[in-house]
Amino acid sequence: MTSYILAIDQGTSSSRAIIFDKQLNIVSLGQKEFPSYYPQPSWVEQNADEIFASVVSVVSESLAKARLSGKDIKAIAITNQRETTIVWDKNTGNPVYFALVWQSRQTADLCEIKRKKGFEPLFKRKTGLVLDPYFSASKIRFILDHVENGQQRAEAGELCFGTVDTWLTYKLTKGKTFKTDVSNASRTLLMNIATCEWDEELCRAWNIPMNMLPEIVDTSTLIGEVDPSYFGASIPIAALVGDQQAALFGQLCLNPGDVKNTYGTGCFLLMNTGSEKIQSKHGLLSTVAWRFKGKTVYALEGSVFIAGSAIQWLRDGLGLIRHSEDSCQICNEVKESHGVIIVPAFVGLGAPYWNSNVQGAMFGLTRGTTDQHIVRATVESIAYQCSDVITAMGKDAHQTIKKLKVDGGASRNDFLMQFQADILNTDVVRPMISETTALGAAMLAGLAIGIYKDTSDLSKVWKASFAFKPTMKEEVRVAKLQRWQMAVQAAMAFKTDNHEI
Ligand code: ADP
Repeated sequence: MTSYILAIDQGTSSSRAIIFDKQLNIVSLGQKEFPSYYPQPSWVEQNADEIFASVVSVVSESLAKARLSGKDIKAIAITNQRETTIVWDKNTGNPVYFALVWQSRQTADLCEIKRKKGFEPLFKRKTGLVLDPYFSASKIRFILDHVENGQQRAEAGELCFGTVDTWLTYKLTKGKTFKTDVSNASRTLLMNIATCEWDEELCRAWNIPMNMLPEIVDTSTLIGEVDPSYFGASIPIAALVGDQQAALFGQLCLNPGDVKNTYGTGCFLLMNTGSEKIQSKHGLLSTVAWRFKGKTVYALEGSVFIAGSAIQWLRDGLGLIRHSEDSCQICNEVKESHGVIIVPAFVGLGAPYWNSNVQGAMFGLTRGTTDQHIVRATVESIAYQCSDVITAMGKDAHQTIKKLKVDGGASRNDFLMQFQADILNTDVVRPMISETTALGAAMLAGLAIGIYKDTSDLSKVWKASFAFKPTMKEEVRVAKLQRWQMAVQAAMAFKTDNHEI
């Protein structure tokens, strides 16, 4: 009899459930979008009940499509949008406020106050993160401040906080299990990254009562059992893992120095740093990759804000392409970008620059510049930005990156992948299964319940689909990177107080 694992991939805009067989082939997939709400500019909220309902619905859909029942599923893995913050009533299980999504900036002021009080170095040192609204702590504070008697109720032990993994587990187990894993906890600004425990000093800094926090457990272990009323069987939940860390695992980046890059709306680059927790000197974050059998593996993380969304800009903003996929062919129609360089700093620049004032810029225009050159320069800018993050990772980890494993929507663009290999002078490897996030979570669950003995079992089933080898001459590569650097510096030098005039 085949052993099936079901991975729930709870993302920012949709929930998915994917059933894998033992060989890690995809058997079926259910997917459902759900809404986000934007009560004010830069605020992003979701309804935690809608998130949960979408998950139940996609799990049922994936089972029906595969003609399987809950009894056929050996384990469930949950991977999720990270940092998104939910607070609910312990007695009723009902959320007391909207879920505050990771993208939401509504706590920028709260973070600014903490920064002015000099808290930043403490958070950096203890959590590996930066003091930013992105992470959960300030979002919990916001909710407690906006719910009637919020602080009082939290202190009385009436409220629970969870990231999405915790919320789903709590609901699926009908309130029996209140846990999070280290990879998710490491994104809250409340966990000490060295001990992997909630930190009293950090909680006190936000005045967050520790009794509302879930228990922190291994990423891959028996976490709880889904109540049989949902899918007809008590299915073990055997992995909880943040989406980017799941993709790192799903790409089998299991050794220190292994790097993956997910090319989606933005890019998320993670490097496995093994048991070493590196304090970045180059604008990257330290985070927990996973913990298995009590052994913690760390990662360095850097994100690029605008990647695939620059392709959407070509399509929807400039009307230069009809479909995202067309960008690849157009790039190949010209030999060069004809000296055009685009810095797509539409929302500032992320790692390693962390400059929120810089705006986008286009350089090197001549009378000979065409639409195609602009398309090509935009695609190339994705690779340049990732190259900057990889260079920072190399410096922090004191090593050169030999191979980059890739996934995400824009990794389907062969031109981009070849250019990335060229500009990095490293191999770029795209796996056969593009669903690396769900795959990683399923692998972690499979390890917990013993379907796989160890990671060598997983290596046997992981297949690369294509490797892009660098072919660019070294002097060309160096010259291109210099031009890119000049463009970034020039864009940052263009400062104006009034962005409208
Ligand atoms: P997310 O998970 O962030 O929603 P996806 O991994 O689904 O992102 O990727 C979607 C992004 O990839 C979109 O921004 C889209 O413009 C871009 N994209 C998709 N296909 C291509 C392509 N062939 N070339 C370049 N960009 C692409």
